Amino acid sequence: MSDSNQSESKPAAANSDPEASFDTLGLSDVTLAAIKKAGYEVPSPVQAGVIPHAVTGKDVLGQARTGTGKTASFVLPILERLKPDVNQPQALIVVPTRELAVQVEGEVSKLAYGLNLRCVTAYGGKPIRAQIEKLNKGAKVVVGTPGRILDLIARRALDTSGLHIVVLDEADRMLDIGFRPDIEKILRKCPQSRQTLLLSATLPKTILQLAQKYMTEPITLDFSEKDIAVSTIDQYYFTVHPKLKFELLKRLLERENPQQAIIFCRTKHGTDKTYRRLSKIMKGVGVMHGDMPQGARNRTMAQFRDETVRILVATDVIGRGIDVTNVSHIINYDVPQFSDDYVHRVGRTGRMGREGVAYTFVTLEQGEELTKIEIRIDKLLMKSTIDGFDPMAFVENERPPEERDSSLPKEPPPKPLYGRGRGPKKYRRL
Ligand code: AMP
Repeated sequence: MSDSNQSESKPAAANSDPEASFDTLGLSDVTLAAIKKAGYEVPSPVQAGVIPHAVTGKDVLGQARTGTGKTASFVLPILERLKPDVNQPQALIVVPTRELAVQVEGEVSKLAYGLNLRCVTAYGGKPIRAQIEKLNKGAKVVVGTPGRILDLIARRALDTSGLHIVVLDEADRMLDIGFRPDIEKILRKCPQSRQTLLLSATLPKTILQLAQKYMTEPITLDFSEKDIAVSTIDQYYFTVHPKLKFELLKRLLERENPQQAIIFCRTKHGTDKTYRRLSKIMKGVGVMHGDMPQGARNRTMAQFRDETVRILVATDVIGRGIDVTNVSHIINYDVPQFSDDYVHRVGRTGRMGREGVAYTFVTLEQGEELTKIEIRIDKLLMKSTIDGFDPMAFVENERPPEERDSSLPKEPPPKPLYGRGRGPKKYRRL
């Protein structure tokens, strides 16, 4: 799809129902004013579905992926239900990644306009001291990742006794990456009378079990069907020889000239390598994976948001949850390991009704993996080609195309990507 590079940001088609209005969802005038200030005109389907139940204090189990406005669907009811005169944590939002914690906190701040609300983020990779101090100053809303939340509870820095709303966001992701015991511990520490809101892109058995054990007669809402193969995203694949993947990437980026693109690789090593090769031939390239120190990750995310970084090479650490509105292209340099990850990766584009395009590089051995993805999204990917380039025509013992030009300077020894030569810190593998 070569004309997608000309696609301009279109106004978000948040809702297909022209009758939908924030006025009818049971929200107060202050909240409605904040919504207006945020520029949200009509509620997205997830918001129209979740908010009326959640504001009444009911438990809600919602199946929705990111990019559908699901954050505001739990943030707005929280803001409605906070007791103004109680200055201790009343709402806890548990998320799988630090990036998502920062993003959710951003949405809370935006929508709490006029409320003078303190919201604290609590995630690993940052000194715990500062987070404790912030909590000590009083916070009504806490957003964090499970490990750090438990740590803060154990140190008695996070008082759970006044929590009356707990949100588990991206719950399936948290279970996938081994947070189940932590989540259960957190839920057991919270008052039983609390309201629990659980949002998840998929509802596997493990999520339903968790809901059964820790939720009270939840209302189950499913916003998934129309979201899975987001209709605004054109999805293509290339058959490629493994040794020509980089050349294909280069040519594809040249042809498409994306406004912003995320290139997903499977491993951290592969991500670093692709980043190095790419940043040698073009500007505005960034890298993001779970081994990078938190500071470097935050910087990269900020640069991606302000578009200093136009092309982000990443692992699935940012495959979920992260909302960057202008991403026009997703390139799966490596086929994702799980078909669910495909849905999440591709969900980084085409957000809130904007257009997007996704390309997946498939080697001959990966035909079955492609089929699994197609079954998962219930849609066939279209085969793509590049004029004048055959991505299968690799000749053994031939140097890769970008090395053939002898006028190119010789490759300097690899520099550390971040920090001052310190080895990367070990984090959970993502
Ligand atoms: P989320 O699915 O929560 O990650 O939201 C995706 C993006 O849509 C975020 O940038 C939100 O700020 C934005 N958004 C959420 N609700 C609305 C709405 N009702 N109208 C327009 N934009 C929205």
